[in-house]
Amino acid sequence: MCISVCPGGTHHPIQCIVPPHMLRVIALRGDERTAEMARSLLKQNQKLRQEREDHPHPCNQGDEAPAAIAGGGNTRAGSTFTPDRRVHDGQQKAALPGKLLRGEGDSPSDNADVDLMYDAMGEVFSLYADQFDRNSLDGSGLALIATVNHRRNYNNAFWNGDQMAFGNGDGQLFRTFMDLSVIAHEMTHGVIQYSGGLVYQDQSGALNESIADVFAAITQQRQLGQAAHEADWIIGSELLGPAIKGVGLRSMKAPGTAYSDDLLGQDPQPFHMDNFLSTSDDNGGVHINSGIPNHAFYLFCMLLGGNSWEKPGQIWYRALQELNNPMASFAEWSDQTVAAAIELYGTGSPEALLLRRAWKLVGLPT
Ligand SMILES: [Zn+2]
Repeated sequence: MCISVCPGGTHHPIQCIVPPHMLRVIALRGDERTAEMARSLLKQNQKLRQEREDHPHPCNQGDEAPAAIAGGGNTRAGSTFTPDRRVHDGQQKAALPGKLLRGEGDSPSDNADVDLMYDAMGEVFSLYADQFDRNSLDGSGLALIATVNHRRNYNNAFWNGDQMAFGNGDGQLFRTFMDLSVIAHEMTHGVIQYSGGLVYQDQSGALNESIADVFAAITQQRQLGQAAHEADWIIGSELLGPAIKGVGLRSMKAPGTAYSDDLLGQDPQPFHMDNFLSTSDDNGGVHINSGIPNHAFYLFCMLLGGNSWEKPGQIWYRALQELNNPMASFAEWSDQTVAAAIELYGTGSPEALLLRRAWKLVGLPT
């Protein structure tokens, strides 16, 4: 059963990895060709959103109540779940999903992007199955559908409520979108959608973005076997092209420092509530203010030590499953994570105390 809920039965928004604030700066500062690319991407995003509004997701036809489905209805031990991956070649066209090149259990294709996507989706599936006892994005074995080579020189990747699509980048601004953190980020939008959802606007939208980044970082660190203090905490470290001065799209360790570039401008993310940005742009700054809860997760992992996918991941995952408010504010989310820490590890536990300290350091006393 599909249980994603947006109040009032509204559509699932398209969730793109390259935020509109970046594209707007490129449209203003880029040379003629680059500015045109940014304008056309902004227009495409608008069109995708409009299409979703005109053809609402079937999930939203009913008015099912939001429900947490950790592990799903047909729960078994996490490690025995098996994914159902379907990777398509978009053949540089706009139509989705494109030509199926590799299904579950198929031997490697002769397309490197297809095989990279297949392996990366397996990595994310395994994180959710083995660490959180969750069978795929919906908890019930949902097929993982992805399209690579989406459009020509396309500078974005997105989750549209049903599947993921990845461009190849133009080779200058963006060299690729085939990055495990980006793939995990987009798949986590699916997990959030099927966990009761977080409305993609203002603070709940920034939480949606932040939780997608948190599980992206967790996936990457688990795959590399890195403890919290060994990781770079960068989202999209593979993405930026040779023309750009920066280390990635976002930094959870130091929000606001991922890039500083003549064309892209300065990474606008705050790391403290004092610098919370009130804006109507970017659905109310969902990709900007996400820096604050991102940094709280980073601080908690560093204060606690060890691996992000163990205790911190368990706390964030439990809080997401128990959150029963698709329009949650940062304050409500921080309280929910502390409640999860107390349930898992006890009121006076170091986990609960250090988590409170982390939230306080970003201006959110719980
Ligand atoms: Zn996103």
